[in-house]
Amino acid sequence: MTLTLTRPSLIRADNFINGHWQNSVQRQVYPVQNPATADTFAQVADSSAEDAKLATDAAFAAFESWRNLPAKVRSNYLVRWHELIIENRHDLATIMSFEQGKPLAESLAEVNYGAAYVDWFAGEALRTYGDILPHTVADKKLMVVKEPVGVVAAITPWNFPLAMIARKLAPALAAGCTILAKPAEDTPLTALALVALAEEAGIPKGVMNIVTCSRNNVADLVGSWLSDSRVRKVTFTGSTAVGKMLAREAAGTLKRLSLELGGNAPFIVFEDADLDAAVEGLIAAKFRNGGQTCVCPNRIYVHDTCYEAFAEKLVARVANLKVGPWDHQDSQIGPMINDKAVSKITRHVADALAKGATLLTGGQALQNDIATGPYYFAPTVLGNANHDMELAHDETFGPVAPLFRFHQEEEVIQAANDTPYGLAGYFYSQDINRVWRVSHKMQTGIVGINEGAIASETAPFGGVKESGYGREGSHYGLDDYLDTKYLCQGNLS
Ligand code: NAP
Repeated sequence: MTLTLTRPSLIRADNFINGHWQNSVQRQVYPVQNPATADTFAQVADSSAEDAKLATDAAFAAFESWRNLPAKVRSNYLVRWHELIIENRHDLATIMSFEQGKPLAESLAEVNYGAAYVDWFAGEALRTYGDILPHTVADKKLMVVKEPVGVVAAITPWNFPLAMIARKLAPALAAGCTILAKPAEDTPLTALALVALAEEAGIPKGVMNIVTCSRNNVADLVGSWLSDSRVRKVTFTGSTAVGKMLAREAAGTLKRLSLELGGNAPFIVFEDADLDAAVEGLIAAKFRNGGQTCVCPNRIYVHDTCYEAFAEKLVARVANLKVGPWDHQDSQIGPMINDKAVSKITRHVADALAKGATLLTGGQALQNDIATGPYYFAPTVLGNANHDMELAHDETFGPVAPLFRFHQEEEVIQAANDTPYGLAGYFYSQDINRVWRVSHKMQTGIVGINEGAIASETAPFGGVKESGYGREGSHYGLDDYLDTKYLCQGNLS
């Protein structure tokens, strides 16, 4: 498998700091793997706190001039960046598939999805409104203006190597913030290519900085940003454990935080659901990206009266999903990201089977004529799942759909909410009263009602409880990068 691009110059291995591509100060690199084969195909900068500080110096120095630009000028940079992302979408998708493993069609869809945030926030940059407040005293005028929070550190995961970073960088730039970005160890190249296109769009030096590092150095590198009072905000997508650590460490300088953390999404099929629609919704929500998304249904509750019929339809669909490498036209499920991911999925399935689950299809690591690497896992459906199983409490992050049987609406809502997490939840019902009732009771930031595909740049994405706080996308998404300043002018005549 070779990485062939229309523009090979989009492959970058260095940090981008203050408008320059440069190796890490200590001249270290780390290997990046192709999950389809487990082969190393690139080496990128393995940075440390020294590189992080250089990036902070640059972002801090660039902040005043960037925030003072007219909103229209910042918007125009985003418009141009968006055009370049779309023009180079095939190369970006190829890089993404190579380092993340997802089938090319999914990578192309992710490029469009990430680009849509850039386009959206190019528009939102022009709508950063303040307020004139009604005064209570005759000689005073009261006003509210919105100002950028300052230097923002963005830390992102590997499952959506382009979209997760685009939906942080775009609103930050629109608001007038400058940026420090650190992509995941496993998927640095897509983010570096995205930043190369931002450079090409003419975004001024120092405004956008990106540093890469291996897992060995991440605490040191990010620690530099956490302790630096010049960094005013951290925006993070990743696990709840790391999110909590960032919140603790950021408290030292009271930084603003946006935390898009883990989920444990319930997916409920009521007895009045359209079963075919529910199966298709589940396929879309559960098996996209090989089940490696934060909004993947992790617990599928099916009413007793339609359990057998639903399970039969689901198994028929899942058993036919084609597993293979990103560049094969038939592939619908790519490899998992790494060996740790395969081990966790294998452990969850074994634990469920030991505690009484029935294997309806899949259930093990897989190799076939096109999927020859070590990280493939068969799309799996488990029946008779229960809450003693590990997979009921912990994101499996793989192509495993466990079915839980339920009898009563109240019982299933209680089970669905019985988790510290609250990112997404889904349910299928044709009863309009139940739709409103259940939507109201779901303790999640996002509810899919008769729908499995929920993400959109026009909607606020984010969770409640231990799935974090802050919203990405929509007009709410800009607020996370703005401070509210109140101006009081007195002694007017
Ligand atoms: P992760 O381990 O928390 O990593 C996320 C990012 O944090 C990576 O860049 C990682 O760097 C960095 N990181 C790891 N340890 C760190 C430390 N001690 N200090 C500072 N940064 C650190 O999560 P993941 O396994 O990559 O991603 C999967 C998780 O993300 C799942 O829980 C999923 O639900 C969640 N997620 C949430 C959303 C959402 O919108 N809510 C979206 C996608 C994913 P390294 O790569 O070097 O470890």
